[in-house]
Amino acid sequence: MRVYNFSAGPSMLPLEVLEEAQKEFLDFAGTGMSVTEISHRDKAFSAIVEEAEKNLRELMNIPDNYCVLFVQGGASQQFAAIPLNLMKSGKADYIVTGNFAKKAWQEGKIYGDARLVASSEDKTYTYIPDVDKIAFNDDSDYVHITSNNTIFGTRYVKFPETKAPLVCDMSSEILSREVDVTKFGVIYAGAQKNLAPAGVTIVIARKDLIENPLPICPTMLKWKTQAENGSLYNTPPCFSIYMANLVLRHLKKLGGVKEINKINEYKAGLLYDFIDNSKFYTNSVEKKYRSIMNVPFVTPSKESDEKFVKEAKAAGLVSLKGHRLVGGMRASIYNAMPVEGVKTLIEFMKKFEKENA
Ligand SMILES: *Cc1c(COP(=O)(O)O)cnc(C)c1O
Repeated sequence: MRVYNFSAGPSMLPLEVLEEAQKEFLDFAGTGMSVTEISHRDKAFSAIVEEAEKNLRELMNIPDNYCVLFVQGGASQQFAAIPLNLMKSGKADYIVTGNFAKKAWQEGKIYGDARLVASSEDKTYTYIPDVDKIAFNDDSDYVHITSNNTIFGTRYVKFPETKAPLVCDMSSEILSREVDVTKFGVIYAGAQKNLAPAGVTIVIARKDLIENPLPICPTMLKWKTQAENGSLYNTPPCFSIYMANLVLRHLKKLGGVKEINKINEYKAGLLYDFIDNSKFYTNSVEKKYRSIMNVPFVTPSKESDEKFVKEAKAAGLVSLKGHRLVGGMRASIYNAMPVEGVKTLIEFMKKFEKENA
């Protein structure tokens, strides 16, 4: 039996996509081979990379002056790649709105003067600093932000207007809502939250920004290397790219980002409304900044939190345990989580409240 999987990542993938992959797993596109066995230099494979890029460009409306790269190492590897590709004058601004944002900032400090210009750590990351009140430095090579904070369940509702290129970690919300790519210098995202199995990381970078990486930048971390080689400089994460392409096709069939965003807003709305109307469950994020992807919540006690996670699991609602930094529960309701999954969770929450309040 398939369960509803609320994991923050790796996370659920659309059932249709898993079935499609299963159907053609042993013989991909008449090659007589599995997609996991084909050479990455084979035409059948480069066609996948090309289609995935085309689909992503279409879905996100990515203009021609941006390159789309499929790389390895996760979003965390990009924390280093960003300064190594962009820190030409050795200075950058960082906004820290959660654990991953902090890690990105700390990695940036290894390579230069990574300055903390705003943080929401004072209130355990339950809000996003007012972007209009941040004093950005004039001499920055870039400004780094994390658009959706996976662990704490917040998201930007408005992105800062900056003189320096805006670099954004969208790992836990890419393709969940419409964004204007032209407002960003670089967008990057590990795939395992909203797009594919772990292994591939998407980098969308304005072409003029990738030309002069720092001399110490490793070849593999140079976006320029990856761009010049169509993401095939070395063996790419073939299976993840293939799966990403199936997910992108699926998303196009659903009507694109605008449509999935409506569904995401609806799903998150159901869950937040229920929590807000309950005296038993609480979510401590400032309402305006609530994420529609990751919904943390607690019951009145640690003991009942633990009981909740255990009983939910027995009821087929898995991976609801909150991150160790926050405790309680977290429901990650990415693109692939069906409305039915959220409704089932709410029914379970009602029942648990009745029995334990
Ligand atoms: C999961 C996550 C990361 C880490 O991704 P890896 O691919 O595991 O390195 C970074 N940033 C955000 C916002 C995330 O949600």
